[in-house]
Amino acid sequence: MSKSSDSQLMEKIVGLCKRRGFIFQSSEIYGGLNGLWDYGPLGVELKRNLKNYWWHVTVHERDDVVGMDGSILTHPAVLKASGHVEGFSDPMIDCRTCKAHLRADQLVEKKGIKQCPNCGGKDLTAPRQFNLMFETHVGAAADESSIAYLRPETAQSIFVQFKNILEVSRKKLPFGIAQVGKAFRNEINPRNFTFRSREFEQMELEYFCRPEQGMELLEYWKEERLRFYENIGIPRGKLHVLTVPDGERAFYSKGTYDIEYDFPFGRQELEGVAYRTDYDLSQHQKASGKSLEYFDEEPKQRFIPHVVEPSAGVDRTVLALICEAYSEDQAPDEKGKMETRVVLRFHPRIAPVKCGVFPLLKNNSQLVAKAKEIVSLLRPHMTVFYDESGAIGRRYRRQDEIGTPFGVTVDFETLGEKDPALRDTVTLRDRDSMKQERVAIHNLPSILIARIQ
Ligand code: ATP
Repeated sequence: MSKSSDSQLMEKIVGLCKRRGFIFQSSEIYGGLNGLWDYGPLGVELKRNLKNYWWHVTVHERDDVVGMDGSILTHPAVLKASGHVEGFSDPMIDCRTCKAHLRADQLVEKKGIKQCPNCGGKDLTAPRQFNLMFETHVGAAADESSIAYLRPETAQSIFVQFKNILEVSRKKLPFGIAQVGKAFRNEINPRNFTFRSREFEQMELEYFCRPEQGMELLEYWKEERLRFYENIGIPRGKLHVLTVPDGERAFYSKGTYDIEYDFPFGRQELEGVAYRTDYDLSQHQKASGKSLEYFDEEPKQRFIPHVVEPSAGVDRTVLALICEAYSEDQAPDEKGKMETRVVLRFHPRIAPVKCGVFPLLKNNSQLVAKAKEIVSLLRPHMTVFYDESGAIGRRYRRQDEIGTPFGVTVDFETLGEKDPALRDTVTLRDRDSMKQERVAIHNLPSILIARIQ
């Protein structure tokens, strides 16, 4: 696809997200706040489905992983020990012509001369380090002693609680601690819709192990994570594994992979999978003076565990899911004329609404009552949307556009008016093939549950 059609595609996706209630600009009625987004009724369902599925496969389905939920406001000592206070910064350059603040890697180079990407200006300041952490104060005194930070990643609270969790869970190495939650970074240039935001969510696993297991587990988790993306509908062909080269890795990491996705605006990171050695626990042991060692019963040895960290972005994955799902095809309208259909081809597992339920006519009380019965039958098992307004084709289109994989229509055959054998059967429509099958109402829950798992 060409650059302009890619940016047109992004415009359509952003428009659809707003129109149908996936994602809105934060504080929109006051002009918005850059790099911050609010999820609407459908966006929040999509996001929850993603987080729940991650939690399910990472924690519930495994014997070797437990979860935690740490506080967002973080003691400065934690982030000093981790290196964030000193080093969590990006080089920033200002354009003196248009006054833009730019990340150094965003400058464009023409004939060997660096230029501002906004105005082409060449009058640029020297790079200076800009710390990305948001600082605040805890308590009434707003001075040096009350500084706290909004966490820039969820990982540090896992390291800091390592000993407590080890004791209460009584796990043996290798084992992991998982967390899903908010992180905050004062990005110099938030951009590409929600891709680079100032407030976002992460799904992080710290998987602790013996030193000799680190490299093998790095490979293992890279493969697990690729499988995860495939299981939520992102094909392997659109995912790329970048081996972060020696010079670009954090100095303590023995190996890092970036899992990237082909977004319409380019190939970009979805997740980092890093073997962080024993760096974090060693730093916190040193700074706190508290032992963070593990006692190995077998050789009767104490040591600081190593760790492999798959760290994924919730918002970036939601955006990848929407980009991947977006498609347009041709479908007949009410009169049989072909028209363009916008359809989000979400994997049923993560689709915000699983099933639409439609009485053929809204002014027929029997059809409406039957449809409402079906809603009550399905609702304990899945998200359902009841819609009785407008022509049936329009109702299908509205559900296609938000990615609802199944539609159930109650018609006169359901009432047994034409053929008594068809009483209490409905049509079940598939979003992607648009094919309809006739199924018995009492079979609907089991058929749909099997298809959305
Ligand atoms: P980038 O190089 O894109 O800034 P990063 O390498 O700094 O990302 P990590 O620190 O490895 O990111 O964070 C792990 C994950 O958290 C990323 O892969 C991404 O999915 C998510 N993430 C990081 N920063 C942001 C952000 N500003 N907005 C949205 N998601 C983010």
